[in-house]
Amino acid sequence: MSTAPLLDLLVVGGGPAGLSAALYAGRARRRVAVVDAGSPRHAVAEGVHNLIGLEGIAPAELRRRAWSDLAPFDVTHVEGRVEALKHDGRHWHADLGDRALVARAVLLATGVVDLLPDWPGLRATWGHSVHVCPFCHGWEMRDRALVAYGQGDHLAHFARMLRSWSADLVVLTGDTPLPAEDRADLEALGIVVRAGHPVALAHDGPALTKVHLDDGTLLARTGMFLGVHQRQTPLVRSLGLESVPDPFNEDGHVKTDDMGRTSLPMLWAAGDLCTRMQQVSQAIASGGGRGAMIHSILAMDP
Ligand SMILES: Cc1cc2nc3c(=O)[nH]c(=O)nc-3n(C[C@H](O)[C@H](O)[C@H](O)COP(=O)(O)OP(=O)(O)OC[C@H]3O[C@@H](n4cnc5c(N)ncnc54)[C@H](O)[C@@H]3O)c2cc1C
Repeated sequence: MSTAPLLDLLVVGGGPAGLSAALYAGRARRRVAVVDAGSPRHAVAEGVHNLIGLEGIAPAELRRRAWSDLAPFDVTHVEGRVEALKHDGRHWHADLGDRALVARAVLLATGVVDLLPDWPGLRATWGHSVHVCPFCHGWEMRDRALVAYGQGDHLAHFARMLRSWSADLVVLTGDTPLPAEDRADLEALGIVVRAGHPVALAHDGPALTKVHLDDGTLLARTGMFLGVHQRQTPLVRSLGLESVPDPFNEDGHVKTDDMGRTSLPMLWAAGDLCTRMQQVSQAIASGGGRGAMIHSILAMDP
């Protein structure tokens, strides 16, 4: 296994958070490598929304432009996966299986793992007519026959917000009824509230047509918002970092201080893995901030 020269910064994950950190650190003349396994969360979506100036850009095009922006700087793109990270008291050692990298600082920007239910029809519709976030795709689903499911304690408020995008809305409460006051409130808004869990989705290509419920009901629906549970990636789980409880992430999200530092030395985190506000713009902002802070801390030990 060969060992490359000492890096200032190793970025694990080449999504919006990692690439934004690489831009800040690269422009600060740091030697940076970005190792990326190449599966950002939004890869299935046709476009990235709520990104001012680039509204609707295809995820692959966003990545292509980011790498083009990074070309003038000392930022190396490594296609692969960091299997393990170890700190020797001074530097971080990353094991990529076929090679090793050594860095003064590491930024975790691995995103999170979405735990999609195994309903037949979900993979075909996910990111097209079944979505997680109404800010990202509510506009594309406007005025459709919508169904909301899996938002836990947020379900009633989620339904109130969703009504802005469509007045034709069914809310599925699973087997936990909504408090009577919320139910009455939603019904007064014309929202249908009912028990039941989806078990399969009927579709025409990527277009949702019906939702099969566990009681045998077929709901004719053309758009779904699904609250998805998550976990951290295997690498992040292996590090035993301090975390913050998160109702949608079984591992919690990674705890960071104001600078983005985790509970281990010279190990930062940015993007989806350390927040509930999982958006491309937020990931870019958090990665950029971490890139600046890492340069600032490294400058104290030249
Ligand atoms: C279907 C869908 C649609 C979405 N649409 C929008 C939208 O329209 N607008 C919006 O603002 N947000 C959207 N989001 C949310 C958005 O995708 C995320 O907030 C954003 O991608 C987070 O960026 P990130 O850099 O933290 O992680 P990611 O984009 O997930 O990137 C993480 C990268 O790290 C890599 N990686 C993981 N582990 C390792 C490892 N051990 N070694 C090397 N590489 C590793 C992964 O392969 C991946 O490439 C959407 C999400 C989903 C699921």
